[in-house]
Amino acid sequence: MNEVSVAEAALNTQGATHDVSAYAFQNDVVRNLICRVGRYPDIASPHDWYMALAFSVRDRMLARWAASTKVYAAQNVKVACYLSAEFLIGPQLGNNLLNLDMGDEAREAMHALGQDVDALLAIEEEPGLGNGGLGRLAACYMDSLSTLEIPAIGYGIHYEFGIFDQVIRDGWQVEVTDKWLQNGNPWELVRPDVSYYIGFGGYTQQQTDAEGRLRVNWIPARQVKGVACDLPVQGYRVDTCNVLRLWKSEAVESFDFQDFNAGEYYEAVQEKVVSETLSKVLYPNDEPEAGKRLRLAQQYFFVSCSLQDMLRLAALKNTSIEHFPDLFAAQLNDTHPSIAVAELMRLLLDVHGLSWDAAWDITQRTLAYTNHTLLPEALETWSLPLFQSLLPRQLEIIYEINHRFLDSVRCAFPADDARATRMSLIDERGDKKVRMAHLATVGAHAVNGVAALHSDLLRQTVLRDFAEMYPQRFLNVTNGVTPRRFLMLSNPGLAGLLDGTIGAKWRADLTELDALAAHADDDGFHEAWRAMRFDNKAALAARIADATGIDVDPNALFDVQVKRIHEYKRQHLNALYIISLYRRLCRDPGLDIAPRCFIFGGKAAPGYAMAKLMIRLITGIAEVVNDDPVIDGRLKVVFYPDFNVKNGHWVYPAADLSEQISTAGKEASGTGNMKFMMNGALTIGTLDGANVEIREEAGADNFFLFGLTAQQVEQAKRDGYRPSDYVKSNDELSDVFSQIAQGRFSRGDPNVFRPLVDSLLQFDPFLVLADFADYVACQQRVSDAWQDARRWTRMSIMNTARSGKFSSDRAIGEYCERIWNARAVRIDLEQR
Ligand SMILES: *Cc1c(COP(=O)(O)O)cnc(C)c1O
Repeated sequence: MNEVSVAEAALNTQGATHDVSAYAFQNDVVRNLICRVGRYPDIASPHDWYMALAFSVRDRMLARWAASTKVYAAQNVKVACYLSAEFLIGPQLGNNLLNLDMGDEAREAMHALGQDVDALLAIEEEPGLGNGGLGRLAACYMDSLSTLEIPAIGYGIHYEFGIFDQVIRDGWQVEVTDKWLQNGNPWELVRPDVSYYIGFGGYTQQQTDAEGRLRVNWIPARQVKGVACDLPVQGYRVDTCNVLRLWKSEAVESFDFQDFNAGEYYEAVQEKVVSETLSKVLYPNDEPEAGKRLRLAQQYFFVSCSLQDMLRLAALKNTSIEHFPDLFAAQLNDTHPSIAVAELMRLLLDVHGLSWDAAWDITQRTLAYTNHTLLPEALETWSLPLFQSLLPRQLEIIYEINHRFLDSVRCAFPADDARATRMSLIDERGDKKVRMAHLATVGAHAVNGVAALHSDLLRQTVLRDFAEMYPQRFLNVTNGVTPRRFLMLSNPGLAGLLDGTIGAKWRADLTELDALAAHADDDGFHEAWRAMRFDNKAALAARIADATGIDVDPNALFDVQVKRIHEYKRQHLNALYIISLYRRLCRDPGLDIAPRCFIFGGKAAPGYAMAKLMIRLITGIAEVVNDDPVIDGRLKVVFYPDFNVKNGHWVYPAADLSEQISTAGKEASGTGNMKFMMNGALTIGTLDGANVEIREEAGADNFFLFGLTAQQVEQAKRDGYRPSDYVKSNDELSDVFSQIAQGRFSRGDPNVFRPLVDSLLQFDPFLVLADFADYVACQQRVSDAWQDARRWTRMSIMNTARSGKFSSDRAIGEYCERIWNARAVRIDLEQR
């Protein structure tokens, strides 16, 4: 037998790798408990059992991964590489069991071992390797890539500390270090053999090579090593298993004791510590980037590791480097990996010895860029001195790209110096800066926004000059979310009801949910729908009681706003409305209103004082309203702490109303809005991001619309918007402000919310007060609809029925076809 068939025979006799039957699985869990965890069943802790179960699941994924890799290596497939500084993948066990289609067998096996899978799922730590929507999008896309059988690699950073854990103390957010690795991570494989050297600082030298060509040699001052940590990403009900490859930094070489005297020894240890800080911690977003040298170093570190890895894999193919773009497509998730433009050029020029034109052609054909923001303050720039000191060679290359690029601008638009200045990769005003969005746009063959409105605004505003110069390069790919995690896994009640009502076709193609529309007026189905939703709400109520001590009634309308806390997302608009409602009930205690439970969740960036104050306002309102005898439980306000993917599993399926109330023109897409819709929540929202498309799909009758449009927002600003005018002309609103100013929601202290109130009254950059009255009126329409249970249920069903477009499978299909030119490759474990 040759080596390969020996290996296959071993796998087959083990049975472990393919066999998903309960009995084989049970034996495997015990074997893993003893041989990998090192414990006998009678003394094993729940965490030991969790690890044994996770290893047994991982074994099955590794067999599929090996089979996938083998096919990818043997054939000339194109690999889609998704480069992202964040992957907010969420808990893994439940999702992997689902995608392997072995949830029932695992339950049976664990039950036979006296273990409850739900209890084990509950103790799993979530890898919080992202801030919010952008990182979660990357994770949804990895799930869809595997499910659609597209050869793919996710490239990112193995942060030792992910996004902080949030606790609420005295109503304020407190950040706690996320030690997600402290009990080990059973899903990852460290690959010491897959590692690359990454340089920083130093200087460059020019020299002439043997053929008389000018070459540049970069001599970095320091080096670190990037080591691959691989996480398998299993597709749903297919044998494809791709990899998420996260880089962690290490010191280059362990040093030799004999070479050091005592002083040098400690310096050398220090050097090792510094090297390892590179992948230590995820930066929270929404904070000024200023001076974050380590952040730029992180970005370069993971991008260089990833590109070197792709070039190594390409070299295994025995084709010439010119074919690199036929083997790999690299998508840049926002500008965080945009240094890839300069780094791929450097590798092709300095390491592979290509000419500029050949290198540029390969770079452009390989890279594509997804923009995620229109907020000018969120567009990344790096000061030139900082950039120069960290990446001198890459800066030289950026200058050369810019030189050639600006020549082409002047050629296309003669006598328009202002345009060239605007488009330059370097911002020459004041302290000079490198504009990363410009670098990404120039270096990519495709640039996309993430919702139809966002892509339009991108072309009209921040990248207008570029869209005029390269109209073909710009396109839209509306975001999506994975229905595996956000429907099948987190809402099994709904999934079962769907199977029983329209069959299981929706599991392979979410647009099949459309068939649900035929049942939207069926009374029997309404009853089952409401029962399913009640159970989901009762389950969330139990978690809320556990986390906050607040009792909420599952019969109340669950009005939910969960997302990062930010002024543009306008949690304070929601808060002001709650105060106005509360005041109305205080004035008229007999008012007939449907009980509502307002549920908030989300983290504020640690340095974003205004966002932290918004959390305090919400908890302050909760303190007053929840215990007020006049309210008598008709209003409840909850701040559900530590919103993350795991908590989201309980929240999205339990929401009746989805709050998507950002200032129009500010939210690029949103993805929370899609998760809510899929699970049957109705949206109250502005015409912003993907809300526009959600309303189109659901139908205007099944959506609560309010607020200024993006155009009206811009117009109001041009017309000299004066927020205080809105307060003067609205008695309800002025009463709300006077209550806050009196310290009503800050335990009597009138100073606490002053910065928030002053900001709203003086500037209100996100037009909260301009939209207030319309929001209140729209909430009245929500209440009216809710009072008519039949009408509400119908609307809820229609939202799920029309949510098919928002599957990340549709989005990934568009990327494959329109940007990557990537195709499915069938993996069949049985026929290896
Ligand atoms: C989906 C998701 C988000 C994004 O929510 P938006 O409402 O689109 O801002 C943020 N955080 C987590 C944990 C999520 O699952």
